[in-house]
Amino acid sequence: MQDSDAPPLCPHCAKPDFLCVCESVEPIDNKVALLILQHPQEQDRLLGTARLTKRALQNAELKIGLSWPSLAKVLGREANPADWAVLHLGAAHAKTLPRERELIVLDKKGEPLPDQDRALAGVKGVVIFDGSWAQAKTLWWRNPWVLKAKRLALNPKKPSLYGNLRREPRREALSTLEAAALALSRLEKRPAIETALLKDFSAMLDKYRAALASDAVTPAAPARKGGAPRRGRKKAVPAK
Ligand SMILES: [Zn+2]
Repeated sequence: MQDSDAPPLCPHCAKPDFLCVCESVEPIDNKVALLILQHPQEQDRLLGTARLTKRALQNAELKIGLSWPSLAKVLGREANPADWAVLHLGAAHAKTLPRERELIVLDKKGEPLPDQDRALAGVKGVVIFDGSWAQAKTLWWRNPWVLKAKRLALNPKKPSLYGNLRREPRREALSTLEAAALALSRLEKRPAIETALLKDFSAMLDKYRAALASDAVTPAAPARKGGAPRRGRKKAVPAK
């Protein structure tokens, strides 16, 4: 089995060399744990950020699968989902979201809880589903223990750094890395967490843009070395 055309992938971020930023990543000592559950069919190999997020955080796990019997089983240690929070998938009611807050705890009906500071205090970890919206929804329903966790809605003030690089709009339009950065930095009240993660993400996107510019990659397609341009290839839109 040989696939000489396929570029070698980094063992940490699973990206080809022209997108890997692992060498410049300095992992942050986050206190609130992060658990990324990735759908096995997650296809966003090039621009996906789950592995990079794990690499950029000392206290993070990435698991690939569809269902786990409990949070403790996923983590391999004692854990009570009631002490954790999960990134909410359903529509949070934009009108009722407190505008000044970027991270909001919701009740089971999707309404913000009255005492936000109290609801956010003491959260020990955050679960994020990684995949398309439909895949994340599947993960949610296949893991009923997440119903015991607090629900977090994101209300980001800034748009995703993806800009127009990504074809498919995703939930909240934020990458997994940006969602984690927002949630953890607000929970720990440490803006440095977000700054560091976004720096790594920007570096990756810069490399992607450079690869687009040099024709090493076509948008939303794997790298092709010396291959003919794809039919119907979209012209890459210059980044803002
Ligand atoms: Zn890497």
